[in-house]
Amino acid sequence: MNVYDSVRMRDALIVHGFKETTKPGQADVILVNTCHIREKASEKLFSELGRLAQEKKKGALIVVAGCVVQADGVEILRRSKLIDIAIGPQNYHQLPELIEKYNRKQGRIIKADFPVESKFDFLPLPKQSTAAAFLAVQEGCDHFCSYCVVPYTRGCEYSRSSKDIIAEAKALVKAGAKEIMLLGQNVNGWHGDRGKDLGDLIREIAKILGLKRIRYTTSYPSEMTQNLINAHKDTAKLMPYIHLPIQSGSDKVLKDMNRQYTVKQYEKIVAAFRKARPDIAISSDFIVGFPGETEKDFEETLKLVKRVGYASSYSFKFSARPGTPASLMKNQIPEEIKTKRLMKLQALLLKQQKEFNQKTIGKVFDVLLTERGKVRGQLLGYSPYMQGTIVKAPTKMLGEIVRVKVTGASATSLTAEVVKK
Ligand code: SAH
Ligand code: SF4
Repeated sequence: MNVYDSVRMRDALIVHGFKETTKPGQADVILVNTCHIREKASEKLFSELGRLAQEKKKGALIVVAGCVVQADGVEILRRSKLIDIAIGPQNYHQLPELIEKYNRKQGRIIKADFPVESKFDFLPLPKQSTAAAFLAVQEGCDHFCSYCVVPYTRGCEYSRSSKDIIAEAKALVKAGAKEIMLLGQNVNGWHGDRGKDLGDLIREIAKILGLKRIRYTTSYPSEMTQNLINAHKDTAKLMPYIHLPIQSGSDKVLKDMNRQYTVKQYEKIVAAFRKARPDIAISSDFIVGFPGETEKDFEETLKLVKRVGYASSYSFKFSARPGTPASLMKNQIPEEIKTKRLMKLQALLLKQQKEFNQKTIGKVFDVLLTERGKVRGQLLGYSPYMQGTIVKAPTKMLGEIVRVKVTGASATSLTAEVVKK
């Protein structure tokens, strides 16, 4: 979501006559986008600002955007004198004007309210795009998981209309996108048109000529619909991959987290996906060391992982975020126990990821080549199952979808060779 937001801010600035550079030394304005989800992500802002002190001295304007501003705007301005403008996630459409208006003598600006208008109605349509593009269809969250800051930083749930989304998707494809990843904090809760769900939206987007692949993330288990699951069966452009975070394998912990499903219900949804698309890759997020999590609860998570068999996953130590109910719960878990549990869980997840990757050796499928590899003559891309894939291919193939045969696999990536279609 933050990559998407950065791109939209860049596009808004380009319309106002700015040009993009990735070299801070060349920039008149430096934009630092921030994430507040865990303490570690939040703290990154200050190390990044430290690195920008030189550019600031040379006269660059420093803008900090994102959820850290929404949550802690005044505090970060106090902590770092380097920041000129701080802007929250719902105010991005106002950024060009704020920069133009900015006058050092009048002092620093902070803009982090929830305006009545939606930024999506003011941000310009994209004129440039990478081969794999992001598109936010839904933002914010009403679930209030007891550990999470998203409902406070991104606000309540908001779905864009399909008309608005399709216009943006077409603009992205015109600008070169071959794959679109639909984004939302609860993307499968999308309800932008009355009576329609994300499955319907995906089928509509799939009609866009030139668009080859569709993905979506992140889904909330209990908002999953059979219609969306069916889209994996009937819509060829929809990739066989679903990110479905469970967070914990213990019903007691899920209840304390205020997640609105049980482990049994989650596994039923997984089974429905596998019925619709037997080869689908499933991934999840996990939090270990949630307040009150016992060794037995943690073992339940390991058992769940073994039962489901994940293709990949993200796992985190519980981070007590200010203002959330979980940060005030008794029975906080000591750091060393969290670390031990995380290591154990990650070892299991990595083993499963390696097994999943190895199972694809010898398979032939399409890869969208999105980046240059570290070594000359190699390009990087993603398989339909979202596996990072290193392909022997000339640079001119960058941005292309090529058919490959998988020749090798490690826990983190595949190697593959181009074959004729
Ligand atoms: N809406 C999505 C997740 C969005 S946040 C969902 O509900 O599944 C992305 C991930 O960050 C979460 O899935 C969770 O695993 C992790 N996360 C969020 N808050 C956290 C916290 N306080 N400590 C540790 N991990 C957290
Ligand atoms: Fe946060 Fe996701 Fe829970 Fe919403 S559903 S509060 S974004 S973890």
